[in-house]
This record gives sequence, structure tokens and C-alpha cells, in this order.
Amino acid sequence: MHIHIFWDRLSPSGFQVPVKRLISSILGVEATVTENPVRIMGYVTARKQVDAPALLDSIQTYKHLHQITEPVLLVVHQDLFRNGNSFVFGLARESVGAGVVSTARLGNEYYGREASDEDHIDRIAKEGAHEIGHLLGLPHCTDQECVMFKPDTLDELDRKKKVLCASCREHLDSLIIPG
Ligand SMILES: [Zn+2]
Ligand SMILES: [Zn+2]
Repeated sequence: MHIHIFWDRLSPSGFQVPVKRLISSILGVEATVTENPVRIMGYVTARKQVDAPALLDSIQTYKHLHQITEPVLLVVHQDLFRNGNSFVFGLARESVGAGVVSTARLGNEYYGREASDEDHIDRIAKEGAHEIGHLLGLPHCTDQECVMFKPDTLDELDRKKKVLCASCREHLDSLIIPG
């Protein structure tokens, strides 16, 4: 079993390999990263945002066409929203093994702070590992330092460590069948 990471060509370049390595180490699952082949659907001009569920539909279609059964995480640069939320950092649909993460609000620049590649990479990896965690069957966690904690703000995302708590780790181990 391994995770497919699809990297949109306008997502920050040069981050692919460090993000992939971090996600792989957080979850303990192998990952590969390739240029995104999925059509970006759901862009809403008036909001300058992409409808995350529409993007998940697009991933679902691609997976079906290409008979990919393993989890797919798409990393895009566009800001994401879903019905009822002004924005989302990412979204996962466990039933089809598809997840998406936006890099838009994960860089310091967005908040008027000094840019840092390291911060940006860490946040994409934490958010990406979180969504893939859902695809592998993990629910949200109440431990604020655990990758499976649901952050509503950048500060909450930054408070998380690049690890699963002991209980999520144990849970994931029980969900992943070796080999
Ligand atoms: Zn979540
Ligand atoms: Zn946890």
C-alpha cells in the first residue's frame, strides 16, 4: 500500500519531496509524488476559490478511470471552500480515498508575516497527513498536538506536532494490514 500525492503545477515548487517525506514519516506509509493529472474542477470566479467537494469528484473520476484503489492526495494552490465554510485547509472523502489540500493559507505571506519555506512545508505536510489519515480510516482526535486534531486557525495548525498521538498511532496500525 502506498499513498499517491498529486502536485498541482502551480503549488509551490521544490516542496514536493520534503512534503512527501514528512507525510510518509508521520503516517509510516510509503508515498510517491507526481505532477497532478487531475482536472481542476469547481473554480468559482466570484469567490476566487475552488469548491472542494467538486474537486474531490474530479479525483474520484480520475481514480475510477485509471483504476487507482490507493489513497490519493491532491495538493493545489487555489484557496478551497465548501458549503457552509468560508474556507477549508483541506478536505477528505474516505469512501473514495480522495483528499485535497490547499497551500493558499499555509504560507506566512498570506498573513503578512515573513515567508518561510520550512513553515510552509511543515504545514502542508501536517494538513496532508491529516487528510490522508482520514482516508486510512482515522477520525478527528481531541489531542491538540496530534496530526488528527482538526485545526480551525493557523495557530491551531502550528500547535500540532508532526506525529500522531499514541492512541491514533495504535488505531492506524490496526487499520493498516502489513504487506
Ligand atoms: Zn479532518
Ligand atoms: Zn490523536
